[in-house]
Amino acid sequence: MSMNFKRKLPIPKEIKEQFPVTPELATVRDERAEEIRRVFRGESDKFLLIIGPCSAESKEPVLEYISRLRRIQEQVADKLLIIPRIYTNKPRTTGAGYKGMLHQPDPNHSPDMLEGIIAIRDLHLSALHDYGFTCADEMLYPENYRYLSDLLAYVAIGARSVENQQHRLVASGLETPVGMKNPTGGDLSIMLNAVSAAQHRHTFLYRGWEVVSDGNPYAHTIMRGYIDHTDRSVSNYHYEDLIQLHDLYCQSGLLNPTVIVDTNHNNSGKRYNEQVRIAKDVVYSCNHNHDVRRLVKGLMIESYLVDGAATAADHQFGQSITDPCLGWEKTEALILHIANDLE
Ligand code: PEP
Ligand code: MN
Repeated sequence: MSMNFKRKLPIPKEIKEQFPVTPELATVRDERAEEIRRVFRGESDKFLLIIGPCSAESKEPVLEYISRLRRIQEQVADKLLIIPRIYTNKPRTTGAGYKGMLHQPDPNHSPDMLEGIIAIRDLHLSALHDYGFTCADEMLYPENYRYLSDLLAYVAIGARSVENQQHRLVASGLETPVGMKNPTGGDLSIMLNAVSAAQHRHTFLYRGWEVVSDGNPYAHTIMRGYIDHTDRSVSNYHYEDLIQLHDLYCQSGLLNPTVIVDTNHNNSGKRYNEQVRIAKDVVYSCNHNHDVRRLVKGLMIESYLVDGAATAADHQFGQSITDPCLGWEKTEALILHIANDLE
């Protein structure tokens, strides 16, 4: 048993200098960031759609998918604000399997972390440059976050990481809104404690530095369903769940009370087509109750060009190789439905 320190990798500053965000792109990014913050502060009624494949496994289909989102964004701009998911780091339930583009820029080749860092930066940079989108990613590894920190619109802390101290402390210094998922066991207090930790200032050790964070007032919750002690998948997107979360937020003193409802994972039991019904159900709950509408600021949807999922060896162009996703035609119809129905 040993750990082989194979090679020293460039630090984020070096990678950012090599693949920079130009001043023109920085302007697009900053305007978009302010528009998104206005939603979290309750100053804008736009509804967020954080939408895209479970994992971004390859540049070409992801950019094709994002080009379609760009077209539809123009049609629904008065109601919806779309943040594409470009998820480049994948947590694995048992540790086995594809860990994302960061590890494997080509899912059929061996891991290469340097190529991976460059590939994920290139993909996020292309989404901004080619389509004017800053995107969402998961902060699976806090120490890697700064390779992308000047590009992201939105960061999620996954269900398996949300109880981790380092994730919470780093989240308190992020430049973007950060969504804390409920843990896989469903405990809402763990999720709200993570939001509280991230909203406060901290001094901590990070990548060999003593750092001081300001606290992130845009830290918020994501409800993704959970697994009970008998291994049963249980949803938590229903009206009663949202009312309960609203009441917990009222008692908490947290800033900018917000939930994003994740329509897949244990909310759908990974029956990806159920996302359509779940999204419509949440929109109905929003229209029914003003408190719910103010709390629910958007949805997270797993969607790609082709329905479902397949293995890395067998999948079609634009089909997920991790969680099954809603294909494009159903996605497009759903986005238009949400824009039309949400009051
Ligand atoms: C995901 O969003 O694809 C994901 C892995 O989510 P979770 O952490 O909720 O399982
Ligand atoms: Mn997923």
